[in-house]
Amino acid sequence: TPVPTAAAGATPMIEQFIEIKAANPDSLLFYRMGDFYELFFDDAEKASRALGIVLTKRGKYQGLDIPMCGVPVHAADDYLQKLIGQGFRVAVCEQIEDPAEAKKRGGKSVVRRDVVRLVTPGTITEDKLLAPSESSFLMALGRAKGGADHSFALAWIDISTGAFRVTDTTADRLLADIFRVDPRELIVAEPVFHDPELKPVFDVLGRVASPQPPSLFDSASATGRIARFFDVATPDSFGAFSRAELSAISGAIAYVEKTQKAERPPLSRPEREEQGSTLFIDPATRGNLELLRTLSGSREGSLFKAIDRTVTGGGARLLADRLMAPLTDPAAIGARLDSVSFFRPETRLCQAVRSSLKSVADMPRALSRLALNRGGPRDLGALRAGFEAAGAIAEIFAATVLPQELAAALAAIHALPQALAQHLTQALGDELPLLKRDGGFVRGGYHADLDEMRALRDESRKVIAGLERSLIEETGIRSLKIRHNNVLGYYIEVTANHHAVMTGSDGAKARFIHRQTMANAMRFTTTELAELETKIANAADRALSIELAAFDALTAEAVGEAEKIRTGADALAVLDVSAALALLSESEAWCRPVVDSSLAFEITGGRHPVVEQALRRSGEGPFVANDCDLSPEGSAKNGAIWLLTGPNMGGKSTFLRQNALIAILAQTGSFVPATSAHIGVVDRLFSRVGASDDLARGRSTFMVEMVETAAILNQAGERALVILDEIGRGTATFDGLSIAWAAVEYLHEKNRCRAIFATHFHEMTSLAGKLARLHNVTMRVKEWENDVVFLHEVGKGAADRSYGVQVARLAGLPEAVVDRAKEVLHQLEEGEVSGKTNRLVDDLPLFSVAVKREAPKPVKSDALGAALGEINPDEMTPREALEALYRLKGLA
Ligand code: ADP
Repeated sequence: TPVPTAAAGATPMIEQFIEIKAANPDSLLFYRMGDFYELFFDDAEKASRALGIVLTKRGKYQGLDIPMCGVPVHAADDYLQKLIGQGFRVAVCEQIEDPAEAKKRGGKSVVRRDVVRLVTPGTITEDKLLAPSESSFLMALGRAKGGADHSFALAWIDISTGAFRVTDTTADRLLADIFRVDPRELIVAEPVFHDPELKPVFDVLGRVASPQPPSLFDSASATGRIARFFDVATPDSFGAFSRAELSAISGAIAYVEKTQKAERPPLSRPEREEQGSTLFIDPATRGNLELLRTLSGSREGSLFKAIDRTVTGGGARLLADRLMAPLTDPAAIGARLDSVSFFRPETRLCQAVRSSLKSVADMPRALSRLALNRGGPRDLGALRAGFEAAGAIAEIFAATVLPQELAAALAAIHALPQALAQHLTQALGDELPLLKRDGGFVRGGYHADLDEMRALRDESRKVIAGLERSLIEETGIRSLKIRHNNVLGYYIEVTANHHAVMTGSDGAKARFIHRQTMANAMRFTTTELAELETKIANAADRALSIELAAFDALTAEAVGEAEKIRTGADALAVLDVSAALALLSESEAWCRPVVDSSLAFEITGGRHPVVEQALRRSGEGPFVANDCDLSPEGSAKNGAIWLLTGPNMGGKSTFLRQNALIAILAQTGSFVPATSAHIGVVDRLFSRVGASDDLARGRSTFMVEMVETAAILNQAGERALVILDEIGRGTATFDGLSIAWAAVEYLHEKNRCRAIFATHFHEMTSLAGKLARLHNVTMRVKEWENDVVFLHEVGKGAADRSYGVQVARLAGLPEAVVDRAKEVLHQLEEGEVSGKTNRLVDDLPLFSVAVKREAPKPVKSDALGAALGEINPDEMTPREALEALYRLKGLA
């Protein structure tokens, strides 16, 4: 049932609906009807399916039923959450005048309604819809023609906190920069969105990205828009922005205006992030390393979850932001490490700060809701709690000398607006209602008139209680009650059997004015009661309006101090993160890394933070610490490559990942899981680990692997850190080996970066003989009564065997298959030793590298080798595999 466009023949209400819907075609329209939001036509069908609520109908349109469903206003947040989660956008349409006004206009007039807000994934402010420890970014992509090429910029806003940042970027880096911020929503000008060259980017982002009218991004009118929003003469004072940056900033602001309508969130001024100031991590690596989420999308099992000891939402968000964007400037990293070092030995101070921080509520988010007119007394309460905690923290540090970053944080805490803090303390009561219209949040003694009205109201209530007593005496009806409801107001109620006492025309009885007859009761009033009621209602009204005025005044004052509040809250987050990391390093025995501008990479006693904690929890024994040294040696200028062999399950991937994670943690400004670590700043981190299944996007595992490998070989410079796991696994053995072989040579000669390369091709270990900076290491195992025992220890040298058959046995392959496989293996190895022909050529001229190469050991007999080469185990059914085994045996 598509929404009709012509409104002919509709009721005035449906006419109004159609008109508003036409202006908001991309959103589900929540149309306010009394205590419900109702949806009609197509919207109703979509929403009822998405929410699992009943689809009914209301009235007819052009002879057909109009589908309808509705959600109660008080529960709207829950439904919004579900819809937003499923990728819908919702336009909230409210009544914008008193129904009495519409009645006055008479005739068929309906109450005026309009959309007051568009709810989209990136513009949410409700506490219920936001995870306390996650930022919620709206991002805008700007593009400008610069010379022959386009230049790009990204601007991102967290409406819930006011954070606003912008950076220049390039088409190459675009996806990586987007993933670094991980926005909920990315808005793009239509022509850019439909540019075929950028299609791959938007394909990956899926419904996170949405096209918007180009006028939002127009860089010519951007300065004007930005200046108007921030109420300044020109945005030049915020810094010198490129045209692409201006376009992105303008797009973000325009979208905020478009979705928030009349309300203005208190955004900070856009802050510029220098390109290259953060560690470049490509999207695949980011996913594979499971920094904030695991590959399956859960937070449990991620690096963040393993290291987060913060006690505030703001602290957790800052830690996550830092983890997503590690730094590259050794001085800036050192400043953060100084903060952690400061707290580490100061256990008592650390605990004192943390216990004060625990009572800090989410100030920026409360402030944002207040500014957007969605706030309540508890949001003011959140600010009060924050100010109080900040005061306590300032006292804790009173006589302490602090390192640079913490000193700056303390200064921002001191700069919090004291007057506002005082006003909140004086004005707000202890228990605060959720909604301001409930009243009762202003503290007694704050406002003389309010106190008087409350006294009057309470006094009148006492008078009513007295009246009830005297009426009982007068009438002799013990069960007589004075009650109140919204329809009748105050009334006197007696049970039906007593009605004779109350009705009649003689003097006393005439006082009782009949109001209502119920099944078992009769209700009356008296002039006296009616007068009292008016007095009470007036007092309550007056009291509420005084409270609302106080609320508005405090809100305005808070919004006026937005900048200071936000800076102060950021400072509290810095304290939280530093203290939390100190605590973590203490309890997990982590060390302070040395981070400098060398090309060193020397870790002793390194551990994988997530695996280590998991092993401890499951009681599966201790994690085996391992060293890693990729530093330049002797006269070498560049870092080294470690070629890591070892059986499956030996711990190769764990080792690879742990070294990448240690680099990330160090550059985040955290201590690291090691006994010592010296890291020359890494500018780009690449990994090709695990089988990140991309089959959904229609690419084979092998294709994905090659695309990712290509990106690494094309982009890694000498400051990069590259982690490669099992390149060439997804194809025939000889193909795979050749590619892996060539890739290592290229890394060594062209990229010249620090790298760890894990492989199951033992043939490759011979490369160490001719590539000077390549070293063989292996995961050590012990053989014991035909079984393998994994020691998880990285040792010098090469694995002599792959132990695949033993591992298969551990996995529970039927004994018969294991035995048969052993026979086959034996025969294959025999063939290798007798060395009939030398099939593998290592000197494939894939590219010219000036190294003298020697041939790797010959591997297989000719026919057997060729047959093996054709086998791709990943694509075989067990039956085909067995048949292949027989065939191979026949060839031997
Ligand atoms: P591979 O990549 O060689 O197949 P993994 O890195 O996946 O091996 O490790 C296999 C298992 O061995 C892991 O699940 C982990 O529990 C355990 N493991 C790995 N490294 C260590 C270690 N250093 N100490 C203790 N257990 C480890």
